[in-house]
Amino acid sequence: REQIGKLSLLIDTADTLLGGGIETQSITEFYGEFGSGKSQITHQLCVNVQLPKDNGGLHGRAIFIDTEDTFRPDRIDDMVRGLPDEVIQATMIDRGIDGDVDDAAALNELVDHVLNHIHVAKGFNSAHQILLSEKARELAGKYADTEWPVQVICVDSLTAHFRAEYIGRGKLAERQQKLNKHLHDLIQLANLHNTAIVVTNQVSSNPDSFFGDPTQPIGGHILGHSSTVRIYLRKSKGNKRIVRLVDAPNLPDGEAVIRIVEPGLKS
Ligand code: ADP
Repeated sequence: REQIGKLSLLIDTADTLLGGGIETQSITEFYGEFGSGKSQITHQLCVNVQLPKDNGGLHGRAIFIDTEDTFRPDRIDDMVRGLPDEVIQATMIDRGIDGDVDDAAALNELVDHVLNHIHVAKGFNSAHQILLSEKARELAGKYADTEWPVQVICVDSLTAHFRAEYIGRGKLAERQQKLNKHLHDLIQLANLHNTAIVVTNQVSSNPDSFFGDPTQPIGGHILGHSSTVRIYLRKSKGNKRIVRLVDAPNLPDGEAVIRIVEPGLKS
């Protein structure tokens, strides 16, 4: 079994909360209401995973399974340019890009390079989403022994299609069973290729709704699996967001504050 890798958010308080970062061989679930920052986090992780290991990354590529048409290459562009100067410099060296932070051509080359190492696949319905996780497994196999192995797979959103397709109490058991199978496939893939799996899950913001308890993801918590870390995101003032670790197997519960700004997720 390979050593577990840690993927940093490059935010000290949040990384400490997570025990150093998002772990490989594990599923990390970010849940929160619309606009809480779930997609922003997945974008940031697709950038950070590509950083050198000494800079909080895993020197790997990313797969982004996009079920709600949320992936924005422009946001990746912002986030690459928004990395700390010393991280940009180290990443350029790591990729053999000549130049520095003040060199526009070198920065453009870096952005292109990072975008080329994010494989985006749009999932049109739950069956297609499941199919894409099988394709992700093939892709992870293809790159396993290369310089840029797949080190993170993001599924944004994990649950939206399942929620839309399996409606009503009568379908609840079937939905949960399909979702559990999907997650089981993902965790196998995480273990096989020492990859981090990051999934998002929306909670209702309607306090009158049956599912109105904002600490409970719609459809209940995914998999009571020991290798699942759950993180609840909630809005605070302006661009601030509270990151709360919930029931992590080996870490104390706690919170950290982050901000969503143009250069990405920051302290
Ligand atoms: P969720 O996926 O949880 O619905 P998002 O990840 O899409 O939420 O987060 C949306 C938030 O991110 C919004 O509050 C928006 O203001 C912020 N955001 C998105 N893009 C930018 C940007 N370029 N600059 C600053 N904030 C941004």
